Amino acid sequence: MSDSILRYVPKDPFWQPSSENAEKAVALLRAMAPKAESVEANFEDEVRFYDPGESWSGVACNACGADAWPWWNGAMEASFASGFTELDLVAPCCGAHVSLNELRYGWPAAFGRFALEALNPLLMEDTTEDQDRRIGDCLGKPVRKIWVRL
Ligand SMILES: [Zn+2]
Repeated sequence: MSDSILRYVPKDPFWQPSSENAEKAVALLRAMAPKAESVEANFEDEVRFYDPGESWSGVACNACGADAWPWWNGAMEASFASGFTELDLVAPCCGAHVSLNELRYGWPAAFGRFALEALNPLLMEDTTEDQDRRIGDCLGKPVRKIWVRL
């Protein structure tokens, strides 16, 4: 069986919670997923891209809906060169000002400097919106949920 990770990343890609709040969120996620192999809070010095692993299913422009795949890799490379401090760009498809973090990822993905994650949570059902909101409340800012398949 392949591994899965239930991961929460703050919607604000540059923001990090306090370590106290991160610890509380770890305890909350452990209570939500008691069978998980591990539950961790990971702080990163620089912004990174949290992709959904094998669940990746493309990316589209959030302004016009066009397939963003033709230009996404180039935009990622350019942004990576800035350490992902510059996520905004002009979308080549329609000229709109967009952010790499707000593009329509076919399966949720996110940029961030913090991730709360449970390895192999073995949940019978997906977490509810209410549970997801409580994780964000606990950390101090709204989060995005990403199911990763490795
Ligand atoms: Zn567009």
